[in-house]
Amino acid sequence: MKLNFFFTFLLLPYFIHAKEIALTFDDSPMPTSRHFKSHERTDELIRKLKELKIPKVMIFANPCKREGSASVISQLKKYREAGHLIGNHTCTHPRLDEVGFDRFSQDAALGDKLLGPLFLGQKFFRFPYLNESNDVKLRDKMRQWLIDTKYRNAMVSVDNDDYIFSFKINQAKEKDRKVNYKKVEELFVGHLIGAANFYNDLAVKTIGRSPKHVILLHEMDATVMFIEPLAAALRKDGWKIIGVDEAYEDKIYLEEPKNTYAGNGIIAQLNFEKTGKKVGYNHFDKIKVELNRILYRSSKP
Ligand SMILES: [Zn+2]
Repeated sequence: MKLNFFFTFLLLPYFIHAKEIALTFDDSPMPTSRHFKSHERTDELIRKLKELKIPKVMIFANPCKREGSASVISQLKKYREAGHLIGNHTCTHPRLDEVGFDRFSQDAALGDKLLGPLFLGQKFFRFPYLNESNDVKLRDKMRQWLIDTKYRNAMVSVDNDDYIFSFKINQAKEKDRKVNYKKVEELFVGHLIGAANFYNDLAVKTIGRSPKHVILLHEMDATVMFIEPLAAALRKDGWKIIGVDEAYEDKIYLEEPKNTYAGNGIIAQLNFEKTGKKVGYNHFDKIKVELNRILYRSSKP
């Protein structure tokens, strides 16, 4: 009786409301841009993660996106040396539904071969565009491929559109615009905190608890530039930033939903399974409009 009381009133609220989140960065290493040389961006992210005391993140790499895979591997190795983990995001970043099983699995296998020396422990694979296929047969073929090659599907719980910020600030630079980084930063941080809380609330509604979250970010300019205010805002909002190895221990990432609505992450997918409704934090067009207002004082998307 006493134990029951203890669980219901003291522990249960903790399980429901614990806001824990791990960071993952896709599409690494990104090429040189208007803001960073490729290797300098990597160095900057590693330095900031250390300074911010952010535990183990996972870097989802595409080792064939740039010429010279040897230099790419040595760049990625820096993450490993700094205590972070590397995951396979395929070699060239194809979309499964566009290229089909043979080309996709060959590309993923090449990623596996090149990144193999950088792996540590359980291997993780993240589908580019979170596209696990809209075709059930193809999806199941890839699920089997992951089992055969000893991978786990590196699902995300918090989807968002962080990449659009990097795309837009680089586009503005190309057009010789003076970028108001402070305003872009405010929008970026607000958008990402909104996404984290949105999927946390959806999780509580769907599975009755707050899982250990995994947020999808990209190793891109804006994300690297604004990682300090993002980490500060998350912590201020009650989030604890945890290691990605700890987050993937949550059993939510072992779920294999029957539906193919994977593009907004596992929580949206489980919610669809339960309610039949496709609910996601989809503010892509709104963010584009707001970025255009900041960068060009224009309200066109
Ligand atoms: Zn990607």
